[in-house]
Parts: sequence; C-alpha cells; structure tokens
Amino acid sequence: MDRLLTGIPASGGVAVGTVHLLRWEVPDVPHRLIPEDQVPAELRRFHAAVDRAKERLRHVRARVEAAAGREEAAIFDVQHSILEDTDLLANVEEFIRQKLAAEKAFDLVMLEWRQRFARHSVAMLRERVSDLTDVHIRVLSLLLELPDHDPVDLARGERAILVTHDLTPGLTVQLDREAIVGIATDAGTRTSHVAILARSLRLPAVVGLRTAAHSLAGGERAVLDGTAGSLAINPTDAEIEEFRERARQEDVIEAELKRLADLESVTLDGVPVTLRANVDLPEEAEMAHESGAEGVGLMRTEFLVVGRATMPDEEEQYRSYRRVVEAFAGKPVVIRTFDIGGDKLPVGGFPTEPNPFLGWRAIRMCLDQPAIFRTQLRALMRAGVHGDLRIMLPLVVSVAEVRQSRALMAEAAGELEERGVEFRRDLPLGVMVETPAAAVAADTFAREVAFLSIGTNDLVQYTLAVDRGNANLANRFTPLHPAVLRLIRRVVDMGEQAQLEVSVCGEMASQPLMAYALLGLGVRQMSVAARSLPLVKRIVRGISVRDAEVAATAALHAATAADAEEELVRRLRDSIGDLALH
Ligand code: PEP
Ligand code: MG
Repeated sequence: MDRLLTGIPASGGVAVGTVHLLRWEVPDVPHRLIPEDQVPAELRRFHAAVDRAKERLRHVRARVEAAAGREEAAIFDVQHSILEDTDLLANVEEFIRQKLAAEKAFDLVMLEWRQRFARHSVAMLRERVSDLTDVHIRVLSLLLELPDHDPVDLARGERAILVTHDLTPGLTVQLDREAIVGIATDAGTRTSHVAILARSLRLPAVVGLRTAAHSLAGGERAVLDGTAGSLAINPTDAEIEEFRERARQEDVIEAELKRLADLESVTLDGVPVTLRANVDLPEEAEMAHESGAEGVGLMRTEFLVVGRATMPDEEEQYRSYRRVVEAFAGKPVVIRTFDIGGDKLPVGGFPTEPNPFLGWRAIRMCLDQPAIFRTQLRALMRAGVHGDLRIMLPLVVSVAEVRQSRALMAEAAGELEERGVEFRRDLPLGVMVETPAAAVAADTFAREVAFLSIGTNDLVQYTLAVDRGNANLANRFTPLHPAVLRLIRRVVDMGEQAQLEVSVCGEMASQPLMAYALLGLGVRQMSVAARSLPLVKRIVRGISVRDAEVAATAALHAATAADAEEELVRRLRDSIGDLALH
C-alpha cells in the first residue's frame, strides 16, 4: 500500500471504497478584469452558472427529500430562493458591467452579503449566513470550473470513503447515506459530534487524521478501519483481505457479545448496574432495545434541528419522542432538551461567536427563546402520556436555570390544557452535570431535581480546558485526570446523600476501562452507545465492585491520568483478561 494514515478511532468497523474528497470551503478567487466588449458574454456566463446551480439544488432537494424527508430538504429551497433574489443578481451584474470577471463580482457581493447578514439584528436573518455560504461555494465552483465536491450528491453505486477536513453536524445529516461507506476527517476527536453521529449511523469513521484532506487527490482506493483508527491508501488485494479478516473477527466478537443482551447486568458480588442506551436518532430506538438496554439514558434531540432550515413544530417532535418512548414500553426514556450551539448548529447557524463552547448554547439558548423551548416542552409532555418519559436539561450551571425551566413547563402545560389535549404535567425533570459549576454545586441541584446525569464529554472539556473536538489536543483530553474523577465522585456522593439517581451518559461510560473506573467510583447507572452496551455489560458481569473500588481509589490518588490508567488497566486485567480492553 502507498501509505497508512493514522488518526483517532471514532466509529468501529472496516470499509473498503474509493476516496471521495470533500472540500466544502469558499475557494480563493483571483482578481480578473475583462475587456468592455466581453461584458455581455460575461453576464451570460454568470447567469448560466446561476441556472446550473439552481438546477443542481432542485436535484439535490429531491434526493434529500426522498431519503430524509421534507423538513431536511427545505434548506435547499432557501438556497434556491437566494439565487432568485433580484437585488443580489443586480449587484453582481453591476460589478460585471464595471468590467469585473463574473467570479470576482459574485465573490465580492457574497462576501458583503454574508457580513451584512452576520451582523443583522434579526436572528432569523443571521441564520441565513450558512445558506449564503453554501450558495457562495456552489456558484463559485461552477464559475471557476473546480472539481465537483458536492457533499450531498455523490455518484450512484460509488462506495465512497468521505475524506474531509471537518464535518459539521449539518453536513453530516445531509450526506448521501447510500453511497458513503466511511468517514475520515482531519479534525475532530472521539467525542466530537461527527464521531457520535457516525456511531449512530453505524458508519465506520476515523477522525483527527490532520493532513489527509490535503495530501490525498481523491479517487484513491482505500480501506478505512474505524476500530483501529487508520486509513490505508492503495492497499494491495492481500492487504484488503487482511482487513476483511479483521472485520470478520470483529463480527464474531460482536455476535458473542450480543448473547449478553438477555443476561442480567449484575457484578460478580451481586450489585445490579442499570445500563441504558444513548439514542441520537429515533430510528435507533428499536436497535437500542434489542441490545438489552433498560431504557434510554440520553436521547439527544439535536437531529431535529441541525441541517434544517426551520425549527421543528410540536407535532413532528411529538412523533419522534413518542416513537422512542413506545419502543421502550414502560422503561425510562430520558429526553434531553435542545443542546444547540457549540458545534451543534442549526442550518444558518446562530451568530458566529468567538467562543462557541462558552457561548450561547443549550439551556441558555432555550431560556432566551421561550417560544422554541415551550414548543419542545409541549411535545415532551404530550409524548409523556405513552410511557415513562423524563426531561433532562443540558449544560446547566445554576439552579436558577432549573427554576426558569419549571416556570416554562407550567406555561406549556397551561397552553396544552387550553387546547384540551392529553398530556402529563408531572414529568420528572433532571439535569446534566457537564460543567464544573454543576459538579461542584451538585448538592444545590440535588435538592431541586429528580435526577442527575453526568455528561463526561463536556465535563472533561470544561474541567481540563481542552476543546473536545480539537484533534491537536486529543491526547490531552484525559477523562481519567484526577480532577475529573474527583468531580464525578463528588456528584455520586451528593446524589447518594440526597437519595437521587445519578447516572453517567458521556462517552466515558461506553469505554470498558473507564466504565470500570466509574463502577469503582460508585456509579450504578450508565447510558452508553447501543453498540457498546454488550461490551460494558461484559465488564459489569466480570468484575466485583469491591475490586473496582480499590482500583478507583488508586486512580483517584494517582498524580496523572496516565498513572490512573496504568492502575486501572492492571487491576481490570487481573479480573477479566485482555479482551475487555478493546
Ligand atoms: C456529554 O457532554 O457528555 C454529553 C453526553 O452530551 P453531548 O456529547 O451531546 O454534548
Ligand atoms: Mg454535553
């Protein structure tokens, strides 16, 4: 093979295919003037490009509508209408008449429009910026005759390994799921949302490759190994066969683990541990149920928002929540209210912020946009009639946010009452502990909420000041850092004192060694990726809490994350052997 690129394993499995490069960025446009007599031809060239872009958008729209639904497809209507805006077209024509080449004229106008929209006082208009950017890229690519990098519209029958710098959740949901067999990105880490979504879609993925998008030409044959975290370029047939053999072995292990689905989740010394599933898309619910999950510990609801032109209405949300609740007849289903912002932006984005992870996201955004929040709360209360639904608030830092949310729940209940529809008013309300503030002040929350759920992805990010999605910092993102372990321990203790359920729903719980540490820290409820559930159950059934406590105490007192890991590995190996650590 030419080369073996190594990155971070993000979603397991092996994919064999052809590299499809996606460079979805505004290209550099050379400054070019045209002679006066070419102006009419240049105007025609511009309009021809606009017509082709519109035709392409109609085609993509139909494709996305068939694959993903009307709501997902609506963003292409927005982009289509931008290309019909008479002011915009007139501005470009004006520049061309001043003898600027069509691409430069269009580029200048789009830059100006994007800046103007980004600063607009009306939020709805600010949200149009990323549509403008998409249109900007589409038309420039046509005018500059650049290679076709359409993210949505891959050739049929192609088994594509998508290689790109980074994938926003918005782009990820638009991808052609039939053609793409694997995802490789230069940016990102195991906990970035592209990785989480790839796992939900069961697409093998490697992230943090750093230079793949620029060092590859596209069209190369490749094998992506999402379990090992590698991308092999131009492998020989024999090498491909080796990868396939590895994949077969993984399937065997997975099949063996599946047999655990019906077995009890209890430690060797008889301590029951509740294992629930994380669900990122409603379609996953049935599969999560089959994996043996005792409910859903975290249903992320951002799929309803990212990659979409408009916010979902109450009815659509109600149907999605109800589907998951019904798949788990009577078992708890914890649904998290919108965690938008940070790296999970709706199409059009929200205003670009200098520090998105410290910015206007999650509960902050919901509380500032009560109409959006109340719509979601009404949908949740209605779906609550069909099972054991619980509501969870993301990224809280203060009990004041819980109180405000309760007030909005009461208002939402009033609205439903007026309409005379069936709903449940008394749904349990819990919070995610994913900021150091919430962890340190867990006792203040424990008095006012029904449960706590530790989101370790963000908790690690905010405690260690390490961006969870930054590939350059991936080795500094260490959940076993003593500061993180001590915060988790504190939350568990506070929950115990208040006799409140404490669970862990971050990625930490899905990784065998970390799950072992969590058991030792006293965690008795975990919510994990459905695919990891059997593996975690195997840990639970193979260890005794007494041993895990000794290991966790050693980890808590270790000086560094590496020392903590060494302690845990040694002790877990003693209990369960090597297989557990994969
Ligand atoms: C977390 O932060 O650990 C979490 C579960 O939420 P998300 O990954 O969606 O931010
Ligand atoms: Mg989080």
